[in-house]
Amino acid sequence: MTATYQSVDVPFEYRHTCWFCGEPYFESFAFLPSPNYDHQKLPVLLPSCQECYGICKGVKASDLELLRDKVKEQLHRKYQKHLQIGVNWTKEELEQSEFEGKALEGFRESAWKMFEIAKARVNYQGWPLTVDGLPVAALSTSFHVQFDGITYTSLSHAVEQLAKSYNIPQEYLEEVVEVVGRDRLPYAIRFAKTTYGYSLAERTASIDSLKALLAEEAALALPETSKAKGVDVNLGDIVELILHRTMIPPHATQWVLKQGIKSLNQLAEQEDAFFEHFGADSELTAFTYFTAMQIYLEHRELDPEWAEQQDPNRQWFDKL
Ligand SMILES: [Zn+2]
Repeated sequence: MTATYQSVDVPFEYRHTCWFCGEPYFESFAFLPSPNYDHQKLPVLLPSCQECYGICKGVKASDLELLRDKVKEQLHRKYQKHLQIGVNWTKEELEQSEFEGKALEGFRESAWKMFEIAKARVNYQGWPLTVDGLPVAALSTSFHVQFDGITYTSLSHAVEQLAKSYNIPQEYLEEVVEVVGRDRLPYAIRFAKTTYGYSLAERTASIDSLKALLAEEAALALPETSKAKGVDVNLGDIVELILHRTMIPPHATQWVLKQGIKSLNQLAEQEDAFFEHFGADSELTAFTYFTAMQIYLEHRELDPEWAEQQDPNRQWFDKL
């Protein structure tokens, strides 16, 4: 008897697992490309959970990569609210920090779990697809974009979802991304989020000022090609201090020292790198840390005597 389908190999540790999202196995989806450009005869059986199985049934895709991305996009759409918890959470935590009731604790816990489950599912990578040890297809993730720890299938997918999450008009965010460049999504989001008003006139004004800002930035960046040399300091050797009622966190100070940053200007140049580094934990942390470093470096610049004689971390800055 001839086979009527191809079963993908399932490594032992992935038995009973959905290839798309990692949830428990429900049924295998028989995938045949549509349109079927390569005239593939036998469908490929892909282990799926109930939800992904349902999504697959409603989706047309000309190859496995496209199918995978379409499933992910639908999961994103369906769990938009859950994924948003991660975006709003720190804000909420801040707003409600004085309410420590049991009920709220419970809500927080379950909300956070929902977020983590949704995040794990959309980020899930599956395992390499083979049939009898031979690769079925080369599945690439080169168009995937990560933002705040969440994977999107493409830049336009990320923009679409993030516009919803941050309540930014999608066309406006698209425009900002186009101006700043596709590799600077965090910058684009920060800019678009802090834009005042989204009327056509306001947007045009914002885009104009963004262009001016970038031109200025490019002009500033040109002459200074030699990168400052930094120092590696143990966290325990960095003193936490309070300036202008702001805690100056040793983690951020450590990073700044490592990059060889000792002026506000240098910090501004490294803004993207800073947010990329600390934004991995949470965006609020990154913002708080960045503001703290601005305060710290500004204080050092405005009061050089303090910087030279009293700053408890002066010995490290002196090495820069
Ligand atoms: Zn699934």
